[in-house]
Amino acid sequence: MKEIVRAANILKSSKYAAVFTGAGISVESGIPPFRGANGVWSKYEEKLFELNYFLEHTRQAWQMLCDGFYETTLKAKPNAAHIILARLEALGIIKCVITQNIDNLHTAAGGKTVYELHGNAFRLYCLNGCASYSANSFDFKSPPICEYCKSILKPDFVFFGENLPPKAFEGAQRASEICDVMLVIGSTGTVYPAASFPRLAKQNQAIIIEINPEISAFTNSITDIFIPMKAVAALESLETAILSC
Ligand code: NAD
Repeated sequence: MKEIVRAANILKSSKYAAVFTGAGISVESGIPPFRGANGVWSKYEEKLFELNYFLEHTRQAWQMLCDGFYETTLKAKPNAAHIILARLEALGIIKCVITQNIDNLHTAAGGKTVYELHGNAFRLYCLNGCASYSANSFDFKSPPICEYCKSILKPDFVFFGENLPPKAFEGAQRASEICDVMLVIGSTGTVYPAASFPRLAKQNQAIIIEINPEISAFTNSITDIFIPMKAVAALESLETAILSC
């Protein structure tokens, strides 16, 4: 496909290529996206991820999180798309990944500079400030409890109504301002403020390359090269083209 060859040439000659990922990159790891036919919203109510609902109905919220969300997320493994991005980072072809995902799969694949805009479901913390915990310490058959004060823990991902983690936000902002290429993979481009980063990159003259089997809010507004493919097949072709150009 000529878009793959063009994208490979642009990435290879870039000075600072940043990657922006949404739920789509983890679909081939078995984690459903929020939107679309098999999206999380078709199974769960949106209020489950609202901060006020969680604080007021902690046990009910955890029951739903334990029943489906954690079971799927904890057993997911990085797919070839996550692994290829980590390899391209090690080669210096991409410099960082800005992700909307909370599944830890970029880091698990070997990614080093990963800005997790929405936090990480593998970390949990006590709202009384006692301690932080790894999700691997719990079986999620019942809500996880703080070993010191016995209160129910909160996942360290961003609920609706919470601010984004400042360090990730600042890192993503800096990368979006200085990058000359941004590779956008598997995002509808409708969740703000995260979706503002590819737009910021475009304002700063970056070339936007987008991989998504469907058109997104970016495609007809800021995308320069659209690759209408699933993440794994697209990145496998892109890596082959980069290594041979
Ligand atoms: P989304 O659920 O709104 O959209 C997913 C996008 O991925 C769509 O544009 C879809 O066309 C595309 N897609 C589907 N399959 C794909 C594939 N195989 N390869 C490439 N693209 C594919 O996701 P979003 O825009 O990222 O926003 C939802 C929010 O939900 C995110 O901000 C994130 O915090 C959260 N979320 C995270 C996870 C996760 O951590 N894996 C999963 C679901 C939701």
